Amino acid sequence: MATMPTALFRHDEPGRGLPVSARIRERLVRAGQRFHANDNIAAYLHDGDIDALRSEVEERIRDVLDSLVIDTTGDHNTHETARRVAKMFVTEVFKGRYVPMPPITEFPNVEKLNELTIVGPITARSACSHHLCPILGKVWIGVMPNEQSSLIGLSKYARICDWVMSRPQIQEEAVMQLANVLEATVKPDGLAIVIEADHFCMHWRGVKDADSRMTNSVMRGSFLRDPDLRREFLSLLARKA
Ligand SMILES: [Zn+2]
Repeated sequence: MATMPTALFRHDEPGRGLPVSARIRERLVRAGQRFHANDNIAAYLHDGDIDALRSEVEERIRDVLDSLVIDTTGDHNTHETARRVAKMFVTEVFKGRYVPMPPITEFPNVEKLNELTIVGPITARSACSHHLCPILGKVWIGVMPNEQSSLIGLSKYARICDWVMSRPQIQEEAVMQLANVLEATVKPDGLAIVIEADHFCMHWRGVKDADSRMTNSVMRGSFLRDPDLRREFLSLLARKA
């Protein structure tokens, strides 16, 4: 049997000898928890698992480079590539799968604000689930608070957005996930989100269409009920764009 780095194993729970990914998968399956590319699985990770995952992914990326017949021993450019890519996947571009939602301080709406607030453009950085190619875009969020709403700082919208986007995503699902998190956190009367993004799998491969951008929107609550509010939001965006 091939020797594997000890970092892949934990010795204090059943399933020792299995790669860390297999042990995490076991916990998810036992809990009946979905683990699609854009799901957050932080609640099923134990201390040290992220480092162990990074080591395991590094091994697997090295296997991919070997299968691509790239001489990672002789080629100084790719010698450290497996380590860099594993770190990038696990702790940067896909970290939104492995870490809990950033802590958000919520303030009661003491002034009973009920005016439309627009946040954006927030830069959205993600990758498509289909090809793991980058997605780069902009997000605008409209919030219509009521007396029961919680108010969160402007920078928190960007942090929540980054947490949702830092996963392999499908743009239509990303915007729904972001809306769900914001609805649960802010509890607004209405919520509107527009995302416009560039999918690099359309530039780098496939049809190589350099001008293709995709726009999605989600409207909830008063934005659905009130066409004037929806129009106000969209016209303010048009002026900003
Ligand atoms: Zn793609």
